[in-house]
Amino acid sequence: VPELPEVETTKRGIAPALLGARVLEATVRERRLRWPIAANFELVVRGQTVRSVERRAKYILIGFESGTLILHLGMSGSLRLVKPGIAPRVHDHWDLHLDNGWVLRFHDPRRFGSLHFTAADPLAHPLLRKLAPEPLSDAFDADYLYRATRKRKVAIKQLLMNSQVVVGVGNIYASEALFHARVAPRRRAGRVTRVEAARMAAAVKRVLAQAISIGGTTLRDYVDPEGSPGYFRQELFVYERAGSACRVCRSPVKQIAQGQRSTYWCSTCQR
Ligand SMILES: [Zn+2]
Repeated sequence: VPELPEVETTKRGIAPALLGARVLEATVRERRLRWPIAANFELVVRGQTVRSVERRAKYILIGFESGTLILHLGMSGSLRLVKPGIAPRVHDHWDLHLDNGWVLRFHDPRRFGSLHFTAADPLAHPLLRKLAPEPLSDAFDADYLYRATRKRKVAIKQLLMNSQVVVGVGNIYASEALFHARVAPRRRAGRVTRVEAARMAAAVKRVLAQAISIGGTTLRDYVDPEGSPGYFRQELFVYERAGSACRVCRSPVKQIAQGQRSTYWCSTCQR
């Protein structure tokens, strides 16, 4: 599943080819994504010039003069830049043909991705308007996280993964951040201290920023006509390391189920 660092890396990978380019034509091969692609999509983007490429949570926003494309990679989606002669593969659902010789191509075997166009402020769109702060923004800090945990009975890991508290902290990064913050994943959110909230906010930022910086080294994959952007993985401390020695204390890493997801943690390092 593409997590926030993969989406940010995708945005950075495609932006240079998109900015200032004009859409010659849009081609849709499969409209049935998570929501159907609007019937007028090809018409509204034709002739439009890309003015901005942004990210909000796990949405990529491609801004034109007349509006904004809001796209989501879903469970298995990826974007590539290909040359016009490259034949589409199975599950290549739509293309944007640009006047600079690039084709932006969307691939998604499971079709949980989405594509919307809005002529209004994209941040006011129903998909985006209620989103919580970005984890890498100044709005997500020790004070904010401490306040968000008060009187909450839910486990701290569930709270970190709640997109109404902070967006884009998926299962991998919640486990890893809690390890670095030395907070046990099942701790009741309302019981974490201010100092722990500060450690958690810093750890979330650090694991995400590190993953994005590692992703930066794979940018060339976005213009590889044969391959698909390989999702990268930084050196993980606990995630999917059940039974292996903790990299800090050598105790075996533990695995538990939380909200139907696996949580990995070290019961010696995390309290
Ligand atoms: Zn440990």
